[in-house]
Order: sequence, then C-alpha cells, then structure tokens
Amino acid sequence: MVGAGILLELLRDDTSLTRAQIVARSGLSRVTVTQRLNALVEAGYVVVQPSTARTGGRPAEVLALNPHRGRLLAADVGSSHARLGLADLTGKVVDHLDLDLNVDDGPDPVLSTLDEAFSQLLAQSNVEPATVLGVGVGMPGPVEYSTGRLVSPPTMNGWDGVDVRAHFARSFGAPVQVDKDANIIALGVQRVLDPPVEDVLVVKVGMGIGCGIISRGAILRGAHGAAGDLGHIPRPGGELCRCGQHGCAEATAGGWAIAARLRDSGHADVHSSADIVALASRRDAQALALLRAAGQRLGEVIAEAIGVVNPALVVVAGDLARAEEPLMAGVRERVYQRSHPLATRDLQIITSPLGAEAGLRGAAYLASDVALEPSRIDAALTSFA
Ligand SMILES: [Zn+2]
Repeated sequence: MVGAGILLELLRDDTSLTRAQIVARSGLSRVTVTQRLNALVEAGYVVVQPSTARTGGRPAEVLALNPHRGRLLAADVGSSHARLGLADLTGKVVDHLDLDLNVDDGPDPVLSTLDEAFSQLLAQSNVEPATVLGVGVGMPGPVEYSTGRLVSPPTMNGWDGVDVRAHFARSFGAPVQVDKDANIIALGVQRVLDPPVEDVLVVKVGMGIGCGIISRGAILRGAHGAAGDLGHIPRPGGELCRCGQHGCAEATAGGWAIAARLRDSGHADVHSSADIVALASRRDAQALALLRAAGQRLGEVIAEAIGVVNPALVVVAGDLARAEEPLMAGVRERVYQRSHPLATRDLQIITSPLGAEAGLRGAAYLASDVALEPSRIDAALTSFA
C-alpha cells in the first residue's frame, strides 16, 4: 500500500502517537490515515496500546511501532575481531556474541565464519531465520555505498570488489546495508545523544584512522561513500604511510605507526592499540609523547574537517581513544589553534560515550533503517494484502 511506510517512519521517530497526532503530522486526511494504519496493524508492524495520558475522561489509544514484528542482524567487523548482534526492529540489541577473525584470511572464510556466527546467534535466541527483516554490517575498509562492495581497501587482502551486501542477502533472504566502520560508529553514537545533536564528526582511532560524518542528522557519504577519509590525506615530506603516500595522519597517529615506533625503541612486545594504551597507563614517557604527537596530528586533520562540515560535536572513538588525556590534549590544542572561532564557539570534543559498543549499535540502526525503508514497507503491505 503506497504511503503506509511514511506513516511508520513517523512512529519510528516518536515511540507512540495518537491517531489525531498522526493525522496532524502527516498532513493527510483522517480517512487515508485510518486506511494506512489499519493495513500496518493488520500486517503486524504497528500495535495499538492504551494511552497513559487521559484526555477529557476517555482513555485515548496510541499507536506504536511493533519492535517484535521481526528481528535484525548486525555486525561490526574489525580487522581481527567481530561483534555480532541480534536486534529488535527499533535497532535495540537484545543479544550479541564476539569472535576473533583475521580479515586478511580473505572473503570466503571470513564471510562463512560470519554466517555461522549469525546462525548460532539466531539459534541461541530461538529466532527463526525467516523472521530476519534486515541486516546491517560495518566493514573495516572503504565501501561503495550504492552497491555494498569493498573498494580498494588499503589493508584487507583479497577483498577488493567483494559484494558483501549480496553475500548476506543470499544467506538471510533479507535486505542488507553495508557501510564502513567509522560510519556505523557515528550512527551508533549520534542516535543515543541526549539532547540530540544533528552535526557530529566521529574520528575512529585504532590501528588505522577512520572518520564518519553526520550532517543534519544523516550520514554524509558523498557521491560514492568515500566522504571523510581523514586518515590518508598526504602531506609532502612527511613519514611514509602504509598506503604508500607520505605524511598521512595515519603515519603519525595510527596505532600501527605508534606501535612500530615503540618496538623500534625497545618495547618489542607492543603490537596492538591495547598494548599502547597499557604502556601509556604505566606512564611510559615515550608512549605518552607519541600519543600526544598523535593527538596533535589528529587535531590538525580534524580542524580541516571542521572547516568543511562545521560539526557541533567531535567524538574520538576507537581503541586508542581509551588512552584519554595524552591523546585528547593534543587533539584539543590543535583544533582550537587552527579552527575559525565561529566553528569552535560551542564545539565540544569528547571520547565516545559508547566505547566498543558503538559500532554494533550503529550496525543495528543501519539494519533498522534498511528493513523499515518506506518503499519496502509499502511493497510488503501490498504482498501481504
Ligand atoms: Zn596513508
């Protein structure tokens, strides 16, 4: 039924509305709204509940999205680890599991490992695979958003051109959305901010550097999904980066670069972001100095991005963000030095309020968005009737 999906969209934004409120907000006639709501109720997407507010004596009815009409699958895939979740239709994660993997093993083994883990998650929650209405996946590399394919990832061996969206669509018979990891982190963080913030810049700092931009409430992807690649803007004469260029922010501020420098100077056992953070928490002078320099370099590219997108909030996420002050002091110093006063007048710079959970939460919201896309709901109601 054409137009029903738009009404469901209103109920996603507000947890419950009366019929009169839906008529007012949609601008549609009462008859049309009633027809469409009846179809949504009949198909199970909307539930009618007694209202707690009494207006003029008679208890009013409110309508709400039925979070249990189906289930969503979500995955936050990192280069050495993945977190998978099962969510209700609002994107609330109800169960999750963690697994170790190595994306450099290539797409075939990694995607089948993820399929098996999703199946395990469904089985342990007694959920029929047929009730899965959407899948959201974050990948640790550039994703062409229109197709869901990985495009020339700098570090993922064998993944160039791999159609991750088609793979999971085949596995679960549901619509799939795939995005780069920094975008799902940005989505996860932005949707829980209270009060809401519409313009958020999220920088993920782990072994690599990623960036997700939320502009006016929506992910800013650009023409092909490559927007916000702050980690690899070259600067002549700088350090050699793992992408082959010189002077990228990653070559100073990426965990791989910091770990390599620490190993060169005698800390032979430092390999991960967690190792760097642990060394800094023991007040190792060299780790602290490298983190401070990393923060300054990050602050420089963040200041450039602030000049372009003017966010109200900058969130530093990822494993290295757990180092907190040594890194964040450098970020703040350079951002305030180098940004226009108008851009930083009310700017806040914080570490992620969701920690390691942000990516999975965002992948679940991505799945909710794709499952409840208005045109998809309209089509589902047509086939339902
Ligand atoms: Zn680079």
